[in-house]
Amino acid sequence: MLKVEDLTRRYGGFLAVDRVTFSVGKGEIVGLLGHNGAGKTTIMKMLSGYLEPNSGDATVDGHNIVDEPKEVQKVLGYLPETLPLYPEMTVAQYLYFSADLKGLKDREKVSEILRVTNSTDLREKFLSPIANLSRGYKQRLGVAQAIIGNPRLLILDEPTNGLDPEQTQHMRSLIRDIAKNATVILSTHIMQEVDALCSRVLMLHSGKLALDAQLDELRASNSLLVESTLATTKLESLENLFGVETISLIATTEGSSTYRVTTNADAALKNVSADIAREISKQKESLFMLKPELRDLETLFREVGNKDSGVKEVGDAA
Ligand code: ATP
Repeated sequence: MLKVEDLTRRYGGFLAVDRVTFSVGKGEIVGLLGHNGAGKTTIMKMLSGYLEPNSGDATVDGHNIVDEPKEVQKVLGYLPETLPLYPEMTVAQYLYFSADLKGLKDREKVSEILRVTNSTDLREKFLSPIANLSRGYKQRLGVAQAIIGNPRLLILDEPTNGLDPEQTQHMRSLIRDIAKNATVILSTHIMQEVDALCSRVLMLHSGKLALDAQLDELRASNSLLVESTLATTKLESLENLFGVETISLIATTEGSSTYRVTTNADAALKNVSADIAREISKQKESLFMLKPELRDLETLFREVGNKDSGVKEVGDAA
């Protein structure tokens, strides 16, 4: 659906995007992450035809972004970080204008405007001038114009910016729905958003692609959390299990203790979990919780930014 190869962009002598390569299939929701100034907006602008690359290539649904910008724009929806909205226009006029830009005509135009008005909950503001809209409603209008015409590729820069919690949930389920038939690239600094929506993340660091990975793989760790009545004085039985490397106490409450059990590379986490459960039951102790410990996304991405994550990064030797 989207293929990006060696995409590069300079501003004067400054290299903002440096030979970035990735591809994204239909139905994927990919988080485009990175610190301020990492190059995310520059990539999004190039993909949406607002900015030409200095070198490299990208195709959207088979259309080249430089040679066929009109074809690309027909299949693309883009919500930029700051969308230029015309304050004197009403919501309806703006959506008609956006539908015209997408090349929609007659009945299709009307039905698309109705569809996006409903799906972004803009009905009650349909005839209001944009100047009178709150920030959240302006954001909804931005999303509405981006999804007009059912784009095959939807690029969203901070889509829930300014939305209240209810609208944030609504927007997330709308994005999930859209992704059933389209590819979504989502740029955000909100880790809960990445967690809630994305299956994969691309992380930029100083213009380079520093990480391209599935979220599940990134979050997996080699440790387990165990809450049990087992006392610290009786940990030896667990320490001797195959695959257990270290056990540390992380919390104690009345009647239970929580431990972090790290495992070595030879042991499957599933097997170690089963052995721990069996051993605790053999000791006639209660087991309240036994689960893999997930890596915290915030910490993980900070580490990638510092090039110290231990996760395999793009360009690392296999
Ligand atoms: P943020 O999270 O802050 O939006 P970003 O990852 O989107 O950041 P970009 O806006 O793509 O980053 O900017 C990448 C780099 O290019 C930054 O160092 C920025 O200062 C620089 N830059 C962006 N636009 C221009 C421009 N028009 N002229 C000169 N430098 C620019």
